[in-house]
Amino acid sequence: MRKINQLIIHCSATRPDWYEGQTGKAQVAEIDRWHKDRGFDQIGYHYYITRTGEVVDGRPIEIAGAHARGNNSHSIGVCIAGGFGSDAEDRASEHYTPVQLDALHSLVRNLQSQYNISEPNIIGHNRVSSKACPGFRVQRWLSGRKVIEAHEAKPERTKATQSKTVKASAATMAASAGSLVSVMSGMDEIAQYIILGTTAVTLLLGLYILRERVRAWADGWH
Ligand SMILES: [Zn+2]
Repeated sequence: MRKINQLIIHCSATRPDWYEGQTGKAQVAEIDRWHKDRGFDQIGYHYYITRTGEVVDGRPIEIAGAHARGNNSHSIGVCIAGGFGSDAEDRASEHYTPVQLDALHSLVRNLQSQYNISEPNIIGHNRVSSKACPGFRVQRWLSGRKVIEAHEAKPERTKATQSKTVKASAATMAASAGSLVSVMSGMDEIAQYIILGTTAVTLLLGLYILRERVRAWADGWH
């Protein structure tokens, strides 16, 4: 197996409605014809992603691609459908569908872990050529996805009372205070002061623990 340490993203430079309603296989067969016309053995990319997010195999991964001059021997080439008239500085969402970009993202992450490709080595064709392809900055797009994912991974926290631990400690405190009041009636004055003093200390301690828990909860602990 050849050494793989780079992933290069391309676009087909076709209009959004190109081969609309046709299968991914038919689209790949058409690109295969274009590339054979250019003298390649077969389609130059290893993967192709349709506008509907279907991932189709192109050239076998163990064979070097024909997609980025000087970088073919050690890279994987992924092509996404669309990008006609795009500029290197455009945003991915201007030219590709959300499902397509989701499919691209998971394919990229799968290939990255499978071949142990470092993050900076996931690039667009525009990084190694003067072309606009794929019509956005891949590194910028990947950083943007990371921010979105980090945000989505955080569970929604609306009220402190939703935390089970905080709820339980509040309930324990209320219960102990209640039982003390009922025991105290019928005791002499000194005993009552001792108990009140102890209760005050216990309550303060309880409040302190509760406050720490609310803080920890706010920091993301549960
Ligand atoms: Zn390209």
